[in-house]
Amino acid sequence: MDANQDMAARMSGALTPNYSPQPIAIERGEGCYVYDAEGRRYLDLMGGIATAVLGHCHPAVQAALTEQAGKLWHASNLLITSPQVELAERLTELCFAEQAFFCNSGAEANEAALKLARRYAHDRGEKRFEILAFDGAFHGRTLFALSATGTPAYWEGFEPLVPGIRHVPYGDLDATREQLSDRTAAIIVEPVQGEGGVRPAPAGFLEGLRALANENGCLLIFDEVQSGIGRTGPMFAHQASGVEPDLMTLAKALGNGIPIGAMLTRAEVGASLVPGTHASTFGGNPLAAACASAVIDTLVRGGVLAEAQATALYLDRGLESMAQRLGPEHVVEVRGTGHLRAVELKQPAANVIDRCREAGVLVISAGANNVRLAPALIISPDQVEEGLSVLESAIAAGND
Ligand SMILES: *Cc1c(COP(=O)(O)O)cnc(C)c1O
Repeated sequence: MDANQDMAARMSGALTPNYSPQPIAIERGEGCYVYDAEGRRYLDLMGGIATAVLGHCHPAVQAALTEQAGKLWHASNLLITSPQVELAERLTELCFAEQAFFCNSGAEANEAALKLARRYAHDRGEKRFEILAFDGAFHGRTLFALSATGTPAYWEGFEPLVPGIRHVPYGDLDATREQLSDRTAAIIVEPVQGEGGVRPAPAGFLEGLRALANENGCLLIFDEVQSGIGRTGPMFAHQASGVEPDLMTLAKALGNGIPIGAMLTRAEVGASLVPGTHASTFGGNPLAAACASAVIDTLVRGGVLAEAQATALYLDRGLESMAQRLGPEHVVEVRGTGHLRAVELKQPAANVIDRCREAGVLVISAGANNVRLAPALIISPDQVEEGLSVLESAIAAGND
């Protein structure tokens, strides 16, 4: 039994069985590479499920983390801590929002946004409590976020769900309009559906939702937990459309792998979160907030976001020519922008994922037939080429 198999056996003895990981134990990461317990190196095109936007152990984030670790780890929100104030200032400068609330995960960020939508209506004396969400959406595993998630398989056995949530087909403005009423508190939508298969909003969809929300008087929430922080090209995916939400949620890449979530909003909406309404013990934790500020600074002032446009083009061309060579008998469609992509296959993604790993490249799925790529923005053209060539062979090996 090698060290990977040993850890797999110990894992199944000691952890609840809700994960079924690929059979390697990752010990170390550096840039776009990770190393398993046997010292084998892999090119990481999954990036910790779209978290490691700057690659593993990025020196700027590592420096921020160790510097903060020598000063203060945690003090709670009963005291003021500067890292979360500084992070809030950075984030609000980059988008529509004026205020931030920090938490520890994407699900928590969405909980905060959905709760705030109800509370905001309550404070205005309106009987709005319904949430309109979309089929195929993923918003997290806590009960409110789960109830907004648009894949019934995730709900099974956890009912009753939070009441007042309606789902309509992603991209369908007419269906959305039909479900809106004077009971609607908010529409929640991913500008690019991530877990649902890397599906960018169809042209005009976000604009249409903004217009419907304005007309109806409800709030518009963009879940950018996966699409935000430069992942799809701009700092936030919705900025490609020019449409602004009333609330936005972030997590995955915000801390480059350190757990942190954020809910951002306009001051007029945020005003409803008066003392006592909502909180998180670890929210805005100094270690996590310092890392997230280093991520933002490296992306913006460090130029990584701008430089990533070049490798995004490389991904565009590489994926397109790969799909052409493989043909429609293998590839249904290639989707996504920036450093978040999916290749929809004619075969189960699991086969391709296994073959890629055996050839030293890590990819993940997003639904049964989609292989998802979420590499770091610092990936080099050579690494893109290496990764896509392994992926192409893995797909070409077919269904057997
Ligand atoms: C991953 C994800 C979530 C949930 O984030 P967790 O940190 O796992 O709670 C929510 N929304 C979207 C769009 C996601 O991709």
